[in-house]
Amino acid sequence: MKKAKLFLMFLVFLSLVFSLTACAKNRQTAPAEDDNSSLKIYTTFYPLYDFTKKIAGDFAEVENLIPAGVDPHDFEPSLKQVADIYGADIFIYLGESMEPWAAKIAQNLDKQGIKVIEVGKGLIKNNDPHVWLDPVLAKTISERICEGIVSIDREHEKTYKENLVNLSNKFDELDNAFKVLAEKAARKDIVVSHAFLGYVADRYGFNQVAIRGLSTHDEPSLKKMEELKAFCKANGVKYIFDEQGETLEFSTILANEIGAQILALNPLGTLRPEDIQAGKDYFSVMKENLELLNIALVQE
Ligand SMILES: [Zn+2]
Repeated sequence: MKKAKLFLMFLVFLSLVFSLTACAKNRQTAPAEDDNSSLKIYTTFYPLYDFTKKIAGDFAEVENLIPAGVDPHDFEPSLKQVADIYGADIFIYLGESMEPWAAKIAQNLDKQGIKVIEVGKGLIKNNDPHVWLDPVLAKTISERICEGIVSIDREHEKTYKENLVNLSNKFDELDNAFKVLAEKAARKDIVVSHAFLGYVADRYGFNQVAIRGLSTHDEPSLKKMEELKAFCKANGVKYIFDEQGETLEFSTILANEIGAQILALNPLGTLRPEDIQAGKDYFSVMKENLELLNIALVQE
């Protein structure tokens, strides 16, 4: 905790240094028309990166700050990364509940003429950052990204808006797939390793039962584990949802105690390097997630 506080103080200090020093880059200059990567955009974590790439296409160089495979819940940028953000045209983050460090520097970035897009504004309820897993909210996020990019680069507005239409269609398809799942579901309880499916559960009428809280770092008490065990037994829960690439021992303990099977969903806070290599994206991973949910909720 103390370390985090010190780090935030340092970020604030760094922001001050940047506001006192004249910014070398002239932001009044419009991006050159023929330069294909004239816009420099930084995003914080994977889904925002994926949506931004799909909207910006060839007209921007998009960089993701949180490295592949790293849990976004405990990420803090290096000083070099913070300095890099100050050299960008656009900075995209979700909100304070996901990236408290970004919220700290947002105002200052804005003062420096960097377009800051806080995509989760007004969407995040009860400090739960996992809005990107709800296709309807993810669509809103993408609209905000598009709007922000267009405000900086009107030159390519038509392309950005066409790309947004394609993206929105994919969110609609995903929304429909979830509706079909909800309709076919014989069971409604989804037991997850940490509470990342709250928005999906609310939208499609599932019941999320989370072993941990909103962060992967929360730990359940003994009492909570006993309650979970009793709940699973009473409701005939046969599957526990863990997370890809995580060793979440509490899921294993619970699954063993009730004789359930573990299925690994991908909460999409990050994509592993091997997934990126395999050409996966938000939509292909969501399709995999749907198949796993189908096993637990629909199949006999
Ligand atoms: Zn999470």
